[in-house]
Amino acid sequence: MAMAVSDKKNEKKVKEDFPLLWRQMNGQPLVYLDNAATTQKPLSVINRITEFYKNEYATVHRGVYALSQDSTIECELVRDKCRGFLNASMKEEIVFVRGATEAINLVVSTYGEEHVGAGDEVIITTIEHHANLVPWQQLCERKKAILQVVPVNDRGELDMTAYEKLLSNKTKIVAVGHVSNALGTINPVEEITQLAHTVGAKVLIDGAQAVPHLSVDVQKINCDFYVFSSHKVYGPTGIGVLFGKKAILEKMKPYQYGGDMIESVRFEKTTFAQVPQKFEAGTPAIAEIVGLGAAITYLELLGYEWIQRHEGDLLAYGTQQLQKVKDLRIIGTAKNKASVISFVLGHIHAHDIGSILDQCGIAIRAGHHCAQPTMKRFGVPATVRASFAVYNTHEDIDKLIQGLKRVQEVFA
Ligand code: PMP
Repeated sequence: MAMAVSDKKNEKKVKEDFPLLWRQMNGQPLVYLDNAATTQKPLSVINRITEFYKNEYATVHRGVYALSQDSTIECELVRDKCRGFLNASMKEEIVFVRGATEAINLVVSTYGEEHVGAGDEVIITTIEHHANLVPWQQLCERKKAILQVVPVNDRGELDMTAYEKLLSNKTKIVAVGHVSNALGTINPVEEITQLAHTVGAKVLIDGAQAVPHLSVDVQKINCDFYVFSSHKVYGPTGIGVLFGKKAILEKMKPYQYGGDMIESVRFEKTTFAQVPQKFEAGTPAIAEIVGLGAAITYLELLGYEWIQRHEGDLLAYGTQQLQKVKDLRIIGTAKNKASVISFVLGHIHAHDIGSILDQCGIAIRAGHHCAQPTMKRFGVPATVRASFAVYNTHEDIDKLIQGLKRVQEVFA
């Protein structure tokens, strides 16, 4: 049921769904603000996984017995749920992987390995997470290809004119984050994709930071690949999704070899299963797939309309309150932003801020956020990052501000 009443009333109710958030940390009620790293799990997800292990668990795909067949049906239902979640046109376009990192590595090692050659170019941006940077960089090194990087302005927005100039018939792949984990910038992925396609390049969108905040439509974006991790959308770790257009997936070589991904095996020759099974070697993360299904159900119940409104409120309130803190500078001020606020506070090291906030019961990220080139672009070694999720409240932000005042007292 989508929430209709005032956000401020409901934000407390949503928090009640997450048992971990009921606990204390260093003698204070926990304020969890590291959601861009990973999210806590609602009871519905925890209960679904427990229930599955208690009553329904068996291997998938191979069983002739009912328990295994039911387990297989359950996983395939989740595949279809993921299809709907991303608005892919077919469930064959949904490949289960360990997470966004594995999904990107899969595309690099298959599509990239085959289609990027000496002198070709791969385009990424300055503000990529290392997961969408290092695999492409290593591919380019191996292939003697060139890694091109789209610059960003001082607000952390992509320079689209520079991007257009980088595009040429040498461009084979454009790999871009939908939302920056370090700055919160929402990139114009539809436009990026449309431009890339004019030169015949394929487009991979790293949606790890987008799916928690935005309703994603891969058909509308028209990207060739889209990836995300379950653990950032209130689901379990160890599972994620690679969306790929079926016609492209079908032509790609397998990523890993073994059981479950074959059609027939003889010593002379092996033939491979159809997509998506061709990319799913070995026993999958069965219970995690089921947990991801429950997490998507939870998101659907809240509804993206409510999520965006609530998180938009938190972003506006958090930005306004943080701006009032003396010597605090927000890094990443894009017009189009998700609920992520990175900042520096005077000359106090981010780790010191993180440690003092921890003493106040506030879990916050301090560091380079797996985005060292982003930090370099903004001339800082590290930032403190508050990232808000569905269960965060206006009160959490007030506590963060009080905690920062405590930091300033300690360093006065
Ligand atoms: N891309 C982005 C933008 C991310 O924020 C992250 C996780 N911090 C990843 C990729 C990698 O996700 P995972 O560690 O779940 O594979």
